[in-house]
Amino acid sequence: MALSDYKGVYIFAQQVDGELSSIALELLGKANELAQPLNTDVTAVLIGSNVGGLVDTLAEYGADRVIVADDPALETYRTEPYAQVLAGVINEYKPEIMLVGATAIGRDLGPTVSARVATGLTADCTSLDIGDFPLQPVPGQEQLHNQLLMTRPAFGGNTIATIACPNNRPQMATVRPGVMVKRTPEKGRKAEVINLDAKKYVVENNKYVEVLNVVKNMEKTVDIQAAKILVSGGRGVGSAENFKLLDDLADAIGGTVSCSRAVVDNGWKPKDLQVGQTGKTVRPKVYFAIGISGAIQHVAGMEESDMIIAINKDESAPIFDVADYGIVGDLNKIVPLLTEAIKAEKAKNA
Ligand code: FAD
Repeated sequence: MALSDYKGVYIFAQQVDGELSSIALELLGKANELAQPLNTDVTAVLIGSNVGGLVDTLAEYGADRVIVADDPALETYRTEPYAQVLAGVINEYKPEIMLVGATAIGRDLGPTVSARVATGLTADCTSLDIGDFPLQPVPGQEQLHNQLLMTRPAFGGNTIATIACPNNRPQMATVRPGVMVKRTPEKGRKAEVINLDAKKYVVENNKYVEVLNVVKNMEKTVDIQAAKILVSGGRGVGSAENFKLLDDLADAIGGTVSCSRAVVDNGWKPKDLQVGQTGKTVRPKVYFAIGISGAIQHVAGMEESDMIIAINKDESAPIFDVADYGIVGDLNKIVPLLTEAIKAEKAKNA
């Protein structure tokens, strides 16, 4: 079969406990952008048990078609049955592009499926585009058009690589939550629905993981990706106790505290709060970077914020290169003053 016979941009519509994960809608947003230059449509692959009710949401967020594999065997995520279904869908429907979220589930499912259908996968992409490959013409090498150009940090984040998959289909990529933007939902938009007989793909065998019990971690976690204002602290804050300064500022301004990796490595804050390449990607309205130097791996996770305010005692800190407003000075003096000023302003307007 010729590569040109593979058509359409597909996304894996991750759901957990019958609820669509935000990444599914984010991938639909990107898939719609990619489908335009390719003059093709967007298909969501929905796998689970009793998940038919999610089809309309996928349609409203941009799916033209939804392939549904609904079976009790697919209720809780397990590598084997999910991989069998997704690989089966790829073999039967032959998508040109297959996008998967770089979530715990997607990081397991994506590579398993790409190996089964004998194609490549670029993990943790920060940008996806359609274009020519090689990017610049190379003498003696054919420049292919309409390729999926998958961009991601490489070599420990010290460089940015654009990767293509010119000789195999589908072109597969995983994208971390928070990187792509959802479309505004179009109320009442409908998609063509294809109900698969999941049993056709799922081969029961004794190598499956058997789910005996699901124990949910009830620890209260903070979703920094949903926060409108983030007050982020770095190693410069100095200690876990000194984060009190940032808590006070966050309380005054209605924000949420997040941090750099140095802070997590020091055990001052949990990993859930880490922003950056190996943490979370955030795009709040306001991002305070306090005592954060602005290493490329940190900036990769916050540079899309609407407004960045940096406080750092080193005027040459790279964080000032991406900041909209910068304050050079000791955070121990500046942060309390800022908190007091915000409180005073709020009291005046109360
Ligand atoms: P530092 O770089 O030590 O900066 C501290 C800053 O505080 C300095 O600029 C200093 O001038 C300032 N400062 C100190 N005292 C004060 C004061 N009293 N008042 C004001 N300013 C003060 N990092 C991440 O954050 N997120 C990631 O996801 C991530 N992923 C990584 C992945 C890989 C593969 C690698 C190799 C690295 C990764 N890193 C990540 C680490 C990254 O390279 C940096 O080491 C880290 O971001 C530094 O954290 P920091 O800015 O808090 O600390």
